[in-house]
Amino acid sequence: MTDPRDLLARYLTQRAAAGEVSYVLSRNEVSLTVMPERAVTARVSEGRPANEPPTAVQETAAREKWRKGAPEIPPPGIEIAPPTDLFANDPLGGADLDQLGELIRNCRKCALCEERKNAVPGEGPPDADLMVIGEGPGATEDEQGRPFVGRAGKLLDDILAAIGCPRETVFIANIVKCRPPGNRNPERDEIAACLPYLHRQIALVNPKVILAMGGVAAGTLLDFKGSLGSLRNKIHKFHNIPVVVTYHPAALLRNPNWKKPTWDDVRIARRLLAGER
Ligand code: URA
Ligand code: SF4
Repeated sequence: MTDPRDLLARYLTQRAAAGEVSYVLSRNEVSLTVMPERAVTARVSEGRPANEPPTAVQETAAREKWRKGAPEIPPPGIEIAPPTDLFANDPLGGADLDQLGELIRNCRKCALCEERKNAVPGEGPPDADLMVIGEGPGATEDEQGRPFVGRAGKLLDDILAAIGCPRETVFIANIVKCRPPGNRNPERDEIAACLPYLHRQIALVNPKVILAMGGVAAGTLLDFKGSLGSLRNKIHKFHNIPVVVTYHPAALLRNPNWKKPTWDDVRIARRLLAGER
């Protein structure tokens, strides 16, 4: 059985990553600050399970902290359901997520295959409630074959933790699976070649909510050519799955002014995940 102390440590680490609590560890004591004005102490006796983990009320307060000041759910936006039977005779038709990953790693359908080190199919639980969609791999992702593992990825991890959806619980994918040289935007024909993979991933995961990050992800998914700003603050639908649009984490690193609107957007996504409509 899992040692409750490990559970408590994991819980505290998660909450701290979410910026919700701070804690001090001494040999026998964990001092846990849930809210600035209230400190809670949980005793961890040596060699024995923690006998005073945070109470349910404290836990809920910490878990739901994202909710304070979160915007109301905005009105409907674009509804789109691109045909899926286009790919019925494609090898993708019957592929599951693992087979899809294999097809992507071997794919040579567009010029982006030439310079990639590794294709980046995406990753996450096959039954994830939340799916995050970015633009395409950067240098670090290309090195590692995994999505959002560079600087922007670190920021994404923090954002996800802050809404109580740690990265491991989220399916993370991109519009194009191979790195555009020099991190340029993917070209139209590259997107067109790669998009069936993403469509199939969405169909298989069938998430409760999609978070499209950045103009390329949002514009491609919703087949929309206008600005990212005009897509925010609406609940779009892709094959009936709610789509929330926000800034790309890499853009937040360049322009911190977008952090607040992004925090609002992800909390809208979080509300939808909680079943609010
Ligand atoms: N930016 C993206 O859009 N996707 C990644 O996987 C990494 C950075
Ligand atoms: Fe294939 Fe997509 Fe990579 Fe192009 S970007 S080679 S379509 S996996």
